[in-house]
Amino acid sequence: MNENYLKYVGIMRKIMDVNASIAVLSWDQEVYMPEKGADARAQQVATLSGIGHELFVSDELGKVLAELGNDTSLSFEERKNVEETLHDYLEKKKYTTEFVIKMSETVSLSFQAWSKAKDADDFAMFAPALKKLVALKREECELLGYVGHPYNAMLDEHERGATVAELDVLFEDVKKQLIPFIKQVAEQKQNPSEFLFRHFDSKKQWAYGIELLNQMNYDFKAGRQDISSHPFTISFAATDVRVTTRVNENDFREMIWSCIHEGGHALYEQGLNDANYGLPAGEAISLGIHESQSRLWENNIGRSLPYWKCNYARLQEVFPENFGTVSLDEFYKAINVVEPSFIRTAADELTYHFHVIIRYEIEKALIEGTIEVEDLPRLWKEKYKEYLNIDVPSDQKGVLQDIHWSHGSFGYFPTYSLGSFYAAQFFAKASENIPNLEALIEAGNLKPLLEWLRSNIHQDGRLYTAEEICIRVTGEKLNFRYFMDYAKKKFATIYGL
Ligand SMILES: [Zn+2]
Repeated sequence: MNENYLKYVGIMRKIMDVNASIAVLSWDQEVYMPEKGADARAQQVATLSGIGHELFVSDELGKVLAELGNDTSLSFEERKNVEETLHDYLEKKKYTTEFVIKMSETVSLSFQAWSKAKDADDFAMFAPALKKLVALKREECELLGYVGHPYNAMLDEHERGATVAELDVLFEDVKKQLIPFIKQVAEQKQNPSEFLFRHFDSKKQWAYGIELLNQMNYDFKAGRQDISSHPFTISFAATDVRVTTRVNENDFREMIWSCIHEGGHALYEQGLNDANYGLPAGEAISLGIHESQSRLWENNIGRSLPYWKCNYARLQEVFPENFGTVSLDEFYKAINVVEPSFIRTAADELTYHFHVIIRYEIEKALIEGTIEVEDLPRLWKEKYKEYLNIDVPSDQKGVLQDIHWSHGSFGYFPTYSLGSFYAAQFFAKASENIPNLEALIEAGNLKPLLEWLRSNIHQDGRLYTAEEICIRVTGEKLNFRYFMDYAKKKFATIYGL
């Protein structure tokens, strides 16, 4: 291997060591850290972030990248690593240290204001901090540069290549097809689901969640599960990928499907090639593709009939008092109830996308400057009425529910819908490629599916873009038709349409 390339790999691994250390500290913060540790931890993370940033934007890395850019002896994978790193390098170089510090302070204040405002159910307490943050975000768009709409700069940070022009078309399609279908479903008799909200012992839930993760082939020798207030997946290396979950004793759904969802994220991270630690080829492609993995497991598998044909008897055994007299058919219908609701994270597979579209439309206009922060609660209510026909009762159950804006994460929400749509398209292909996939799922043998995901998606890391991987795996670009086909087939059966 050539000397420059080895030097490049050395620098990248060092940066990754710093970033992975930050990740360990962040994981600890969410899972174990005592309350009083917060200030010291913030400082420790800030110091390491500074070191990581300096290493990345260093002249040393810039020089070696420039030299490797003209090196024709590199293999495909080496060249891709260099190209991707150069892209990241140039992006990070656009930020002045001054701007980074200002952003970090503003985010920190804004997060605190949001937390308090949410508890007090009062958007006005969040508005001044959010106003400052939005102003800074608008500045960031100019700093990053964009073609077309300024919000494209934000989108590109979360889903490279995604644009307003394309998302507008996609979401128009979603509205055109999904609204009439949800209407049709709403006209049917609703299926009972109250048995999902009785008391479920937390220890039993926890143990059952571990069983499901094992069945998915999540590797507990390369990870672990803990409790946190918001479930998440975090990776320190492909050999140490951790998940968290939360248990609600009065809502059985939370623990089970957050376990499966985070498990899906974790299988992706565990499936990356550990030999590529610190290099783009060892990193996930994008948030949309990441979410496609979690949602494929959560919905296409975890909310499917074959999956519960396999697992329901065991579930009845664990919770005889809750499910002893509930049939598999009743259970399956209950976990797939479609009903407009206020909270995005608790939404069903169909109405979910309107939660995303509402946020997309609002943040796009906010970044563009056609609306201002003061307009958010009113617009939020108007849009929930328009798209889901419900009256939002409070800021807490409305505009204050998500953490994203307080973190400055504008452009993140669309990746959730993209994830579901990619998932449907990948799953359709997997069903075509794997003989008897349904029977395998029914038998609890999820390994062939995981192997398919590994060889088609996981193992390549960022060697291909989201669009490229989609074409390589399915033969075409992202196509909403797959989600609609899946949804129609599934919910027409459930609601007897
Ligand atoms: Zn997710």
